[in-house]
Amino acid sequence: GRDRRYVCGGCTRAAATCGRPFGVVPRSGCTHRRACTHGRAGHVKDTEALVTVDHLSVRFGIGRALFKPQAYVRAVDDVSLTIKRGQFFGLVGESGSGKTTLGRAILKAVPISSGHVHYSDDEVSYDLGQISKPDLKAYRKRAQLIFQDPYAALSPRMTVRDIIAEPLEVMKLTGSREETDARVREVAQRCRLNLEHLRRFPHAFSGGQRQRISIARALVCEPRFLVADESVAALDVSIQADILNMLKSLQQELGLTFLFISHDLSVVAHTCDMVAVMYLGSLVEIAPTRKLFQAPKHPYTRALLSAIPSLDPDDNRKAQRLTGEIPSPTNPPDGCRFHTRCPHAVPACAEAVPVPEKADDGHTVACHRWREIDA
Ligand code: SF4
Repeated sequence: GRDRRYVCGGCTRAAATCGRPFGVVPRSGCTHRRACTHGRAGHVKDTEALVTVDHLSVRFGIGRALFKPQAYVRAVDDVSLTIKRGQFFGLVGESGSGKTTLGRAILKAVPISSGHVHYSDDEVSYDLGQISKPDLKAYRKRAQLIFQDPYAALSPRMTVRDIIAEPLEVMKLTGSREETDARVREVAQRCRLNLEHLRRFPHAFSGGQRQRISIARALVCEPRFLVADESVAALDVSIQADILNMLKSLQQELGLTFLFISHDLSVVAHTCDMVAVMYLGSLVEIAPTRKLFQAPKHPYTRALLSAIPSLDPDDNRKAQRLTGEIPSPTNPPDGCRFHTRCPHAVPACAEAVPVPEKADDGHTVACHRWREIDA
C-alpha cells in the first residue's frame, strides 16, 4: 500500500486505512478510485485550501550604498489569496505586475520579505517562511514549476529520457534505473510523447512537443501543486489549445492543483475556475471565472476585459483605453495604486489604500468606489 508504484491515483496512505487493496489494477482501470475517501484523483476535497497566501510581500534591493540597497522594488505587496485543492487558479495582469514573483514566492524560489505562505495537503503542512532544509526538499517534490519558454528550459545536451528522469535522480525517488525508466515511460505516455522520442535531443522537437517534455519533467515526481508560468505564451494558437486541454485533463486525472499565470484573458477564461487580477504588485480583484468575465467590479479588470477583441461584427462595445504607463514598482503611487490611470479616480483614491471587500460569494474587490461604478 505504501509503495507509490502500486497506489491508486497517487494516494500514499496505507491500504490498511480503507481496507482496499490498491495496486492490483493499473491506475486508469482502478475500480477503487470512486470508493476511496482519502486519495487524490476523482475525490478531491475542493473546499480545503492547499495554498494560503497571507499578507505576502516580496521586495528586491537594487543598487548598493555602503552596506544596504539604495532602493527596493516592491514586486509583491501585501497579497492574500487562497488556492483550494483541485482548483485551476488563474493569475492575470500586465507585464511587470508581479505575477511571476508571486508564483515563485509560493514555490519558495525567491525569498519572502514579509507575510506567510502555507502549504497543506493530506500528509504535510508547511509554513514556507520558516521551512527547514529537509522539508523544503520534500516540498520541491510536491510543488513544481512549468516554465514559459520550452526552448530555454531544456538542456540541449541531455536526451529527453534524461531530462524527464533528472528530478527522480536528484531527489533519489527511485531505487534502480529500471524503476526510473518505467516511471519516465509512464509519464511520457501521459503527456502524449512518443516513447521512441525518449532517446532524442530537444532540438529535434517543435515548440509544442518541447512543452510536453517540460510538463512531463514537472509531473515525474508526482507533484500535487503546479505553477504554470505563461506556459503557452510562446506557442502557436492551435498548439496552445492542445497543451491547455492536456493540462486540464491531467488536472482531472491526477487531482492536481494549478496556479496558472497568464496575461492572456481568453486563455484564462478557457481553463481556470477562479481568477485573481494583479496590478503593480497588488491584487485588485478575485472572483470565480464566470463572475469575473460577466460582471467585473474593479475599473482595471473592466479595462482589461473591454480590450479583448470580439469576433461579432455587430458588437459595438468600445475598448476602454487606459492612459499612461504602469508606474515603477520602486516608487508606487500612494493610496490606490491604480489612481494614476483610473478613469473613475477621485482625490480620496490617492490618500487611502483600498481594503479588499467582499462583493459577492467568492468575489473580492479592492476599490473605494466599486459600488458606485457598478450602479
Ligand atoms: Fe479607481 Fe479609486 Fe477604485 Fe482605485 S480606488 S480603482 S482610483 S476608483
